[in-house]
Amino acid sequence: MPFPLDIPFNRPYLTGNELAYINDACQSGHLSGCGKYTELCETWLQLHFGAQRVLLTHSCTAALEMCALILDLSDDDEIIMPSYTFVSTANAFKLRNVNIKFVDISEETLCLDPALIIQAINKKTKAVVVVSYAGRNPHIEQISQICKAYNLVLIEDNAQGLGSTYNGQPLGSYGAMSCLSFHETKNISCGEGGALIINDANLIEKAEWIREKGTNRSAFGRGEVDKYTWLSLGSSYVPSELNASYLWAQLQSFESITAIRHDAWYGYLNGLTGLAKRGSFKLPLHPNKEEYINGHIFYLLFPHSQARDSFNRKMNLKNINCIFHYIPLHSSPFNILNVSSANDLPITDNISSCLTRLPMWVGIDKYQAYITEAIHAVFN
Ligand SMILES: *Cc1c(COP(=O)(O)O)cnc(C)c1O
Repeated sequence: MPFPLDIPFNRPYLTGNELAYINDACQSGHLSGCGKYTELCETWLQLHFGAQRVLLTHSCTAALEMCALILDLSDDDEIIMPSYTFVSTANAFKLRNVNIKFVDISEETLCLDPALIIQAINKKTKAVVVVSYAGRNPHIEQISQICKAYNLVLIEDNAQGLGSTYNGQPLGSYGAMSCLSFHETKNISCGEGGALIINDANLIEKAEWIREKGTNRSAFGRGEVDKYTWLSLGSSYVPSELNASYLWAQLQSFESITAIRHDAWYGYLNGLTGLAKRGSFKLPLHPNKEEYINGHIFYLLFPHSQARDSFNRKMNLKNINCIFHYIPLHSSPFNILNVSSANDLPITDNISSCLTRLPMWVGIDKYQAYITEAIHAVFN
């Protein structure tokens, strides 16, 4: 066997405490939401982000849908977002019939380009949704200032960014609201899960109603009112204690998980810098001193799609699973038929066809010498 190791793209990490906490939740007799473990997770996240309030949800998708409901957005409104993102970023707002303006990304950051955001603002624009791709957003301060200057709400789709900071400030603490994902593929996970981080105190009550089917059941649970009733549109976005107990084990290991992935990210960067100088591919933007990177994704950029596809094929033949990422939303069949006229987003198209992601998970460090050697072999 020339390639004895089989290296997956992602491998969910178990801290070892998950089953004990799930068992404890089972024994407690409280398995629906908003119990002890939900509260532990929410309090931890609130402190981490310095947030006004944190609400666990059953996915990042749910948290994004809540943002559209909380802001009461409609077909009179327009929001700016990247096309280079997961489908939920757009779906959440399209479900409320909000007009979506897809804006191109910066070639260097793969996040919304601040100059293009300004060009896209018009009278209908209400909010900007930023996606911190690969858990990075080096323009976050600049975008935050643009939103203030134009009186727009900043929402962070921070599904990938838990653990990353800019100037010491966590990604996810810049927007009025930000959304986290605890999907199996994210740094901290509980299979399927998410959270809404609320940084504007005025939005808390509305958010609580919406998460609890449009009722003030949360206030009732705290003993603040003697009955609960229907007060707004809403849905069921509360996760169960089974998920929250698993998540609590993960959050307790947040520091070590983040540090290990951070180091693995730099492991790839250092292991591939020499080879990249020969011009076959480009590495991610070199981090500046303001950035702390959570090591969510490590990607390579090839000159064209054939080079990317050929690289992936060769790596996969070596049992090292490398995969492409987002297919642009602006040119998707659903968008062309139902959402917005397809605009020209050349950088999004180019990045989508030229990017691949290397395996990244807790424990990958043991295989990184092997992987970087295999990458060198592809080009020698
Ligand atoms: C993973 C991800 C989501 C979706 O998260 P779910 O928890 O699966 O709903 C949304 N946006 C981005 C940018 C993501 O990476």
